[in-house]
Amino acid sequence: MRVHFHGAAGEVTGSLHEVEAAGHRLLLDCGMIQGSPEAERRNLDPFGFDAAALDALVISHAHIDHIGRVPLLLKRGFRGEIHAQEATADLMRIMLLDSASIAESEAERGNRKRRPGEPELQPLYTRDDVEATMQRVRPLRYGTPREILLGVQVTFREAGHILGSSVVEVRAEGRTLVFSGDLGPKGTPILRDPEPIAAADLVLMESTYGDRLHKDRAETILELGRILEAAWNDGGNVLIPAFAVGRSQELLYWFAKYWDEWKLSRWKIFLDSPMAAKVVAVYDRHTELFDEDAVAVWKEKPNPFNLPNLRLTESAQDSMAINAVERGAIVIAGSGMANAGRILHHFRQNLDKPQTHVVFVGYQAEGTIGRRLVEGAQWVRIHGRDIRARAQRHTIGGLSAHTDQHGLIEWYGQIAGHPPLALVHGEDKAREALAGEIGERYGVKAVLARPGLTLQV
Ligand code: ZN
Repeated sequence: MRVHFHGAAGEVTGSLHEVEAAGHRLLLDCGMIQGSPEAERRNLDPFGFDAAALDALVISHAHIDHIGRVPLLLKRGFRGEIHAQEATADLMRIMLLDSASIAESEAERGNRKRRPGEPELQPLYTRDDVEATMQRVRPLRYGTPREILLGVQVTFREAGHILGSSVVEVRAEGRTLVFSGDLGPKGTPILRDPEPIAAADLVLMESTYGDRLHKDRAETILELGRILEAAWNDGGNVLIPAFAVGRSQELLYWFAKYWDEWKLSRWKIFLDSPMAAKVVAVYDRHTELFDEDAVAVWKEKPNPFNLPNLRLTESAQDSMAINAVERGAIVIAGSGMANAGRILHHFRQNLDKPQTHVVFVGYQAEGTIGRRLVEGAQWVRIHGRDIRARAQRHTIGGLSAHTDQHGLIEWYGQIAGHPPLALVHGEDKAREALAGEIGERYGVKAVLARPGLTLQV
């Protein structure tokens, strides 16, 4: 077997690894490059291999930086099957349709401003392309080996990162390649911990937080409770920008778990994100993937997705109606970094009030409104209007969906014999720090994968 690196090799997004095995070619992930507009333009570049010559695609999980270019792969001639864990397959449709809608409306907007003679903008792919993509998806359970091509066997193992997230084992020619996908921290709510891997001949491991240690999750949760108490006493609303997959559901889980302690029955809770509501339905369909704690919460507490005072607002009208609530509302809405989405109209309505509390539960990238607020901006521009930002702001660390340096070292360390290791899905600073630690501890010299590099398994 041989692995060729094409994407997320020296950066975090755009996961794309090609494997030659038993005379076939397969791809692990086909993710979107995300970040600045310049970076995102690279999504249009050629893949670096012939899409039509690929025999199969294997998906680690449904985050857009791992699946975002799959419909493009089909547009460029890929005709093989797509193998994904069952919940990943369900989430994929939601994520890709959303991604296609955004691409379609951006192209439409661009074309309206187009000068005569300029070429018409085309979306990266359309919702029809997504439907064609989903026809090729073959869902697969954890722990069930499948011969995806003659002489090539694939098994998914729990990765504990988002629902359906998988570590991918590829067996061919008597060798085993293990691709970590993205690894969650132990104790991620609802999900089981990453499953230990017995053995491998080569490991591709993510390294997003290879140079960082996370704050304790239990401490983080106590902090959230204290913020809600303070917000109630101030008599305002609480606004939480959150990603539709994972973080939104996790918040509802904590609300159910601490229902009595945090006196949550006095609040009105809104999950104001049609996409997050669709994702909730996928969680509900896959309770077989829940861990013991989640099973207990579902049995003993109010159902996190059906809290008596929770409203999932679908229509734009219902979302606007939340504006009439002056106090006592907790609003979870996208986008997670407040650079788009419904959270913005809640900001317009509430940000100028000192009794409003804004709680940031995820990473806020440079250049986003979320980042500006975290850094203490007094004014932000929303929908073309300058808004005075007098709300109180809180940043809750410790809810990351990625494990930290300790977790990565521990996951790799339990693989028998400490096989050769290549680090992907991380910036160089993170990868170098992680490679240094692993070298010291296990005497293994980790390879920092780069586009164009080939490794023998
Ligand atoms: Zn991910």
